[in-house]
Order: sequence, then structure tokens, then C-alpha cells
Amino acid sequence: MLKESYSFERRIETHMQADVIVIGGGPAGTAAAISAARCGKKVALLEKTAQLGGMGTLGNVSIFMPVGNVTGIYREIVSEMLAEYLPSGHHESIDPQYSPFLLRQYLNEKMKKEQVQVFFHCEFVGTIHKDGRIQAVVVSTREGLKAFEGETFIDCTGDARVAIDAGVPYRTGREEDGLTQPMTLMFTMQNTGKPVTPLLPEGCYRYEEESDLPQGRRLYWERNNDGTLLVNMSRVKANGAIIKDVNYAEAEALKQVFSIVNYLQRTGFETYALAHIAPQTGVRETNQIRGLYTLSEHDVVNGTRFPDAVAQTNYEIDIHSPDAKKTTDERKVDGYDIPYRCMVPAEFGNLLVAGRAISATHVAMSSMRVQATCYAMGQAAGIAAAVSIEDSCSMQDISIDKLHGLLEYQGVRFSGR
Ligand SMILES: Cc1cc2nc3c(=O)[nH]c(=O)nc-3n(C[C@H](O)[C@H](O)[C@H](O)COP(=O)(O)OP(=O)(O)OC[C@H]3O[C@@H](n4cnc5c(N)ncnc54)[C@H](O)[C@@H]3O)c2cc1C
Repeated sequence: MLKESYSFERRIETHMQADVIVIGGGPAGTAAAISAARCGKKVALLEKTAQLGGMGTLGNVSIFMPVGNVTGIYREIVSEMLAEYLPSGHHESIDPQYSPFLLRQYLNEKMKKEQVQVFFHCEFVGTIHKDGRIQAVVVSTREGLKAFEGETFIDCTGDARVAIDAGVPYRTGREEDGLTQPMTLMFTMQNTGKPVTPLLPEGCYRYEEESDLPQGRRLYWERNNDGTLLVNMSRVKANGAIIKDVNYAEAEALKQVFSIVNYLQRTGFETYALAHIAPQTGVRETNQIRGLYTLSEHDVVNGTRFPDAVAQTNYEIDIHSPDAKKTTDERKVDGYDIPYRCMVPAEFGNLLVAGRAISATHVAMSSMRVQATCYAMGQAAGIAAAVSIEDSCSMQDISIDKLHGLLEYQGVRFSGR
């Protein structure tokens, strides 16, 4: 007979102890690791795949969307990897296209320079916690299960995987029905300079009109001037944190990619061949923790400023239809702050959540989710973790003045301050 559940008990060897354990090596996680290390902390960065950069590399996102500033660690990345785009001031907007392969290599080198210990192929499995403090995380490694013990933990998994496992309350997707933004498999095509034969592998769709396309539109960029076409045109109704949805999305999105390539090769890109498909289908939205403050649509639309700001952005509200319709809700915003409290769960004194899974409503997260903002939140989270260790206080009680002072010291400039 099928048992509904099992209990699982095991003695697990501690692989490493660190001051700050960062789980997830995307924009938020890499920035958190760097900033904590710069505060003199021993940092372990645990990443479940073979690469850093999160959706920016794994998902081939390849564009930094404009947020109204280029500051802090994000500014360093631009200045070191994309110097031609670096604006003179911290409060200008840029939206460069970059190579995800170069970003991957750049982040590896950066972590070495910053003395962050990176652990690839290390997937978070569970938390060990007692009396409102996380003691260790259990991780699946190439050598089996290992524990990583820390003073503080920063959940940058994008899905709030660590926080949810520990028992932090969370919600998912749209408030009315829980539906999340759809998933998209990014790919590139390359201009070969000569006609290519369009292929349509078994099981794919033949799109005739633009209105047949999954998003009902063409969405691509060709800014690198090297004949590369970056394509964001697939769309699958799915929640990237649900087993059944992901199983469906990975197969459906790939089918769409080949179908879109075939369509483009017949309608304007007759000399372009499929060059690269992202290793995984991109996930825009999954879970949001309930933190000390929840960023709302009202804050985004009205440009709310907060005394404990850790990031600023004017990126639009950008909601790809969660209903699988071919529409995208895009609304300009003038600019707002993201407060530190959105990253702080009430339940644990040594845990923060940074990146797209912070405490925010569905509409608010659609604006704050882009990479530059996640780098900014991560940078603040790493510093906050270091401050909480130095001052022997909980994440809830750190000095915001000190956090702001260290952010400034690390090159972050807020506008209007
Ligand atoms: C299709 C698509 C297009 C987008 N377009 C743009 C764009 O043009 N410009 C832009 O700036 N932004 C864009 N975004 C948004 C942006 O890429 C993400 O919102 C951003 O990368 C989120 O950063 P993050 O660090 O919070 O999470 P993620 O980038 O999701 O990174 C999370 C990391 O945690 C790791 N992880 C997850 N679970 C575990 C675990 N259990 N154990 C260990 N590691 C784990 C993952 O492997 C990953 O490396 C797009 C997103 C998608 C999906």
C-alpha cells in the first residue's frame, strides 16, 4: 500500500562552517556573497547548478533591464564587463545586452577575487533550526548530503526555498488565484550570411501569423552587433516551483522554441540558424515570503520612499499574462524604494531573503524582479548579515544607519539622499 509520507532521519557530516551562508548564486546571491565578504566575513555560496548568474546566465536572459540607476555591485559589473555602456552618473538608465557566457566567466573570477567560496552542484535540501535561529542547511552535493553551518543565512534561491522549508509564511502568484507569470525558454540565433533551410522537428507547431505566436508578438534584440539575435518569444503557463508544471514547461517551451525558429526563418531571418538554447526554461515568478513589510502596487505606482531603503528602481510594472493569454501588462512607473524590511522574515533572527522572492505583491514583484534590482537587494542583504554578526543582534534589529553607511562605502548611491 502507498504510504502518504515518510520520516527521514540521518546523521549528516558538517562540510563547512561560515559566517554567512548564501543559498542560490543568481544576481541576489552573488551580490550578497560579495558584499558580506567585503565586510570581512567568511562566506559560502551554494549553487545547485554549474553556473553563477541565475536567470541571467542559466535562463539566458542576457539583457539588464533599465532601473533608473547603475550603482553598487551592478555598476561594477557594468564597468568591468560592459565598460562601453557605463554612464557617468549613478542615476541614469541603461539596458545593455550582454553575453551570458561572459557573465558566467566574469562571476567565477569575481568570486575568486572577493574570496567567496563557491560550491557548485550543491542543492539546498532542508534547514536545521532551533529557537528562531537557523543552525545549518542540509545540501545535496556530489558526495551526498552535507551540512553547512553558519551564523547567518541568506536565501537567494528565487523561490524562497530555504525560508519556506524553515516555516516562514509565504504566498504564490496573483492574490486572487495564485497564478504566476508564465515561463519562457530564451534562445539565440546567429546570422550565417547565407540562406538556411527551416526545420520543423516532430511535435512542433507551424506558426503562420504573428498572432499565432505564443506571446502574439515578436520580441527579440540584436544589440551586440555580432549577428546574434536574442529571442524571448516562448510562453508557457506554469509555476516554476511546482513539479507538474515544470515537467510540462520544459518540454512545451522547447517545442515552442523550435517552432519559433522555424517561423522566424520564414519571415525575415532567412539566414539565421539556431545557435543556443538556455539550459533551463526561465522562471519569472514563484513564491513571495511574508516579511516585516510587503511591497505593494500602491508603493510602486505612488513612488513610496522608505527610511530603510535598500534598492531604488523605476522599472515598469511588467506582467506577462499568467492566464496564458497573449497579453503583457506594461505600465511605466516614476521610481520607488524597496525597504530592508521586505527581506526580513519575522520568524528567524538570522535569516534574510533577497531577490525576486522578497515580500511583495504580485504586481509589485513584476517591477522589482529584474536583475539590477536583485543585485542591489543582495548587496544590502550581505552587509546586513555582516552587521548582525558584528553587533550580535538579529536581522530585525540591525542599525539602518550602519547599513546605509556600509552601502555607501561599497559604492551604492541612492538618489534624493
Ligand atoms: C524569461 C525571462 C526573461 C527576463 N528578462 C529580463 C531582462 O531582460 N532583464 C532583466 O534584468 N531581468 C529579466 N528577467 C528577470 C531576472 O532575470 C530575474 O528576476 C532575476 O535573475 C532574479 O534574480 P534572483 O537572484 O532573485 O533569482 P534567480 O536569478 O532565479 O537565481 C536563483 C539562483 O538560485 C539557485 N537555486 C535555486 N534553488 C536552489 C537550491 N535549492 N539550492 C541551491 N541553489 C538554488 C538557482 O539555480 C539560481 O542560480 C527575466 C526573467 C525571465 C525568466
